[in-house]
Amino acid sequence: MSKQLRVAIVGAGPAGIYAGNILASKYPEVDIDLFDSLPAPYGLIRYGVAPDHPRIKGIVNSLHEMLDGGHIRFYGNVEFGKDLNLADIKQHYHAVIFATGAIKDASLNIPGVDLEGSYGAADFVSWYDGHPDFPRTWPLEAKEVAVLGNGNVALDVARVLAKHADDMLSTDIPANVYEGLKKSPVTDVHVFGRRGPAQIKFTPIELRELGEIEDVDLVLYDEDFPEGWFNEDAEGVTNQHKVMARIIEGWREEQHEKTDEPASRRLHLHFFASPVEILGDNKVTGIKFERTALNPDGASVHGTGEFVEYPVQAVYRAIGYFGSELPEVPFNEKLGVIRNEGGRVIDESGAQVPAIYATGWIKRGPVGLIGHTKSDATETIENLLADLDNLADPATPDSADLLATLDSRGVKYTNWNGWLALNEYELALGAADTSHVERERVKVVDRDEQVEISRTGAAV
Ligand code: NAP
Repeated sequence: MSKQLRVAIVGAGPAGIYAGNILASKYPEVDIDLFDSLPAPYGLIRYGVAPDHPRIKGIVNSLHEMLDGGHIRFYGNVEFGKDLNLADIKQHYHAVIFATGAIKDASLNIPGVDLEGSYGAADFVSWYDGHPDFPRTWPLEAKEVAVLGNGNVALDVARVLAKHADDMLSTDIPANVYEGLKKSPVTDVHVFGRRGPAQIKFTPIELRELGEIEDVDLVLYDEDFPEGWFNEDAEGVTNQHKVMARIIEGWREEQHEKTDEPASRRLHLHFFASPVEILGDNKVTGIKFERTALNPDGASVHGTGEFVEYPVQAVYRAIGYFGSELPEVPFNEKLGVIRNEGGRVIDESGAQVPAIYATGWIKRGPVGLIGHTKSDATETIENLLADLDNLADPATPDSADLLATLDSRGVKYTNWNGWLALNEYELALGAADTSHVERERVKVVDRDEQVEISRTGAAV
């Protein structure tokens, strides 16, 4: 008979839930406790995916089924390193898998980056997604805004900034976010890529959406499209690139033939613009770029020595996320990931640290779509199971004992039933909304309120 295994997973986003589900299906004799520092599960889906992306938010349904099956026990509002440490985990489990993602902004080292009005995209995303640990208000005072980066996060940020608030009302945005967006005086959102339109990191569905925003005109610039700008035979060109090139060409044609009424807001796509300085004394007043040009490899760029400035009152840096270090867990500061080989955590010398594993963005860095996390989790779980004989039995193989310890520390943890109560509460808030738009859910933002509803099962 196989030994009964006990595994803790830290991080209840898609990466942690997929890992738990794959582990339970490959090794049924397992008890899995899934911890998260937030009171509610789903991590990036609840607090990273843009509210107007219901298709992606819909992944929650399959994650819900995985947690509702009873094989994985969810405990929220438990922070690793504060409420729970590695010694606790070793005492109660054979192994731990860290799936804590990447929620910080990668840093951009240019002058002016700390001026008032210069923001990290990750912080803005946390605000509009109602993350409990972020301020409730956001200074949406700029008429002209720059968004740096040509990945999907840049598109999310640009879209949310450019859209009229009423067009966001059918989503799950919290009331404070709707109120904030409603007052925004924005007229022009400029997205800047440091490489060309053929080197974008967007995906086709997300790009196409930009052309469909109500009362927002898309603006492209001929100077960013050198003759033969898209070479479909170039190395690394995928079908996705070909689709996106067609979308962009379609927009360019439409733009040249455009005769209808101009929209009240514009979304500009600029390319070959590498940011060199954010301008302003105390507050952002502009941004300076060096124009770039493609190198012969058809992928990288060099500075041309030509500089150009744009007047903007806010800059959003969407140039990638970065992972956060966890206490007692080896970390690669350069890459922002837990040191690992195939999900097995290793120390600086490359030696395996027994019983500690990683998966998702904290394992491989913040790239790839949510689905990619599954193959990542499969690799980690296969390696964990291959190590089974070397995993030491815990002294207290008992979750009740760990929960008693959390209670004794005053940790107000939430559980799966608590989430079901909070979920019902948010759905009821959505149904009770008196605006004329159908709202499926209104998120509760405040952490204490979420904990209270989860722990008491309070109804609206
Ligand atoms: P990303 O796809 O890696 O894009 C980062 C962008 O920032 C790139 O265009 C990069 O340019 C640029 N950049 C990096 N450093 C820069 C610098 N110093 N100056 C100017 N530009 C710089 O990252 P992301 O947008 O954060 O997205 C992370 C992952 O989540 C991606 O896999 C993305 O597809 C996924 N995601 C998906 C959705 C969705 O709706 N499906 C939404 C959000 C995120 P270079 O290419 O030149 O390096």
